[in-house]
Amino acid sequence: MTFRDDLEAASDWVAAYLDSAGERAVVPDVSPGEIRARLPASPPEQAEPFVDVLRDLDEVIVPGLALWNHPRFFAYFANTGSEPGILAELLIAALNVNAMAWISSPAATELEQVTLDWLAQLLGLPVGLHGHIEDTASTSTLVALAAARELRPGGGVYTSEQANFSVEKCARILGLETRLVPVDDEFRMLADFPLDDATAVVATVGTTSSASVDPVPALAERCNEAGVWLHVDAAYAGSAAVCPELRWCIDGVENADSVVVNPHKWLFTPMDCSTFWTRKPEALRAAFSTHGDYLAHTDGAVDFRDYGPALGRRFRALKLWTVLRCYGRDGLQALIREHVRLAALFEEWVRAERGWQISATRHFSTVCFRHEAVDSDEIARRATETGRIFVATTRLRGQSVIRLAIGNAFTGEEDIRVAWEVLRECAR
Ligand code: PLP
Repeated sequence: MTFRDDLEAASDWVAAYLDSAGERAVVPDVSPGEIRARLPASPPEQAEPFVDVLRDLDEVIVPGLALWNHPRFFAYFANTGSEPGILAELLIAALNVNAMAWISSPAATELEQVTLDWLAQLLGLPVGLHGHIEDTASTSTLVALAAARELRPGGGVYTSEQANFSVEKCARILGLETRLVPVDDEFRMLADFPLDDATAVVATVGTTSSASVDPVPALAERCNEAGVWLHVDAAYAGSAAVCPELRWCIDGVENADSVVVNPHKWLFTPMDCSTFWTRKPEALRAAFSTHGDYLAHTDGAVDFRDYGPALGRRFRALKLWTVLRCYGRDGLQALIREHVRLAALFEEWVRAERGWQISATRHFSTVCFRHEAVDSDEIARRATETGRIFVATTRLRGQSVIRLAIGNAFTGEEDIRVAWEVLRECAR
């Protein structure tokens, strides 16, 4: 077999997988250790053909996966390995460049700059921000808090009790204390906490549990007055700003110090890709810039290794650039609007059904709801066990609620109909 034969086999596998994903069980029926027990404990002594890898993928690995790229994956924040993104990942691996510094692969750095400028324009972010790509929102928030600590060391990180736990994790890594701020009845962070001892405030646009939106304009005003860094975690909902009618969600971000949006959540880019912008790149450089005799700086160039924790950096810009080009503004808007339409339709069905209730105001493509008499965790467990859908739960106001998160580009109206059927069946 030549490389070209294997490439054809891999591309056939990918195309067949995408065609049939919806017919597969979305979650596996396996116990801990089961997959590991089916795999050889030691590596092969001799080379094996690539087709054997594909065979084991079909027989052992895929049956043990929760299929994130499945049209009825509604857990966590559903995402998409889109066709353009898949193709770009292949090219990235073939090129295998390292975007750690401009000199290490000049076009990789410059494409990252262009792509972040493009995405900033698509989202309506201010022009002229420094932007770069991190692996995840967790790392992007670490970057923001490390930069904030350069300007005001030793204080606390204020964030909502509904913020993603990555904020607390990042603060802990940096030796900063987290102060959780209560929320109002719409799960929005109250904006009147004292800022005297604050290093940073992290506001969320699209919280993990209910996709609520913190009052960024009010927080920005207070943070600017007090000289406190405001970081906006728009990991999920920031992508909605591609649509002018949803752009309200990032109001005030123009006055924040930094913002993260994850194209690997709701912008059809395969894991991983987290975009980060700041108006204070010099604070990032103060936190992360280093000198090594083995890697010279190039005058007049940006070395992204100086703006975050990693030295080696994947060529993620290529996949984001490919996604932005192959969908275009129109295509991205159409998909986001379709997801919001499907979520609104699902919400209508829940509201119209006796015994069910909506648990949080819905702004985007995530619906939180519960049955009045049957435990949400039990319904979600039974529903997921059918293999037909994957939904997860969270807790709001002390009650367990089901979250239906729509974010896969292959999801259609029929898929949410199936979800509603399965959930009603499981509540009986
Ligand atoms: N912020 C929010 C609001 C999230 O919902 C999540 C994950 O779901 C994160 C941050 C963490 O994202 P990542 O997995 O990219 O670190």
